[in-house]
Amino acid sequence: MGITKTDFMRGMQCPKMLWLDKHKPKLKVIPPEVQEKLDAGNEFGDLAMGMFGPYEEMTVYRPGTHIPDKKAMVQRTAEHLDAGTAVICEAAFMNYNNYCAVDILRKTETGYDIYEVKNTEELHDQFIRDAAFQYYIISRCALKIEKVFIVLHGKDPEYPFSPVEVTKEVKGLYKWINEHIWDLNRLQKSQDELTVEPGEQCTEPYECWYYSYCHGAG
Ligand code: SF4
Repeated sequence: MGITKTDFMRGMQCPKMLWLDKHKPKLKVIPPEVQEKLDAGNEFGDLAMGMFGPYEEMTVYRPGTHIPDKKAMVQRTAEHLDAGTAVICEAAFMNYNNYCAVDILRKTETGYDIYEVKNTEELHDQFIRDAAFQYYIISRCALKIEKVFIVLHGKDPEYPFSPVEVTKEVKGLYKWINEHIWDLNRLQKSQDELTVEPGEQCTEPYECWYYSYCHGAG
């Protein structure tokens, strides 16, 4: 059991949130408006796969489920890298069981560019941290990444994809990811429930889905 991008971001907001995700996920309560936002984000992500024309999607599900088969996705991605596929969507990578799936990986003359898609018009720091996690994992898989972009939702309805380059910011976070990813790996495996006092982290940057549980209403 390694760390994914979502695990990393949730664990950095609150280590107990990550622990509950792994050991007591049934306690989470996702507000309907948040679920709607997540669904809309997925739709925009699907649309953005075609922003550069033809592409290959790496998503593979475990038989009879909608659960991604990470190992099969990593394998499929490796095959497309070998084949020189120009645009690979949901490109999956694994390093010491830490895992990421990049929205769009686009081949350049000497390496690859990363595109992370966000269904919003504004760039937030959280998006840069998300992309930094992807960059960290892919770099450790020895793939040369040249530029990193966040694709925001632009105003043109015909082509609503607005990439913003964040390469410098993302590369600057490599050390920060490395400083925390291994602790989060250890922590999520703890058999004992973590003790964390509720505080600002329960609502910042996102309201925690275990709020009721930790605040005594669950
Ligand atoms: S409610 Fe607060 S303390 Fe509990 S898991 Fe969430 S962020 Fe952590």
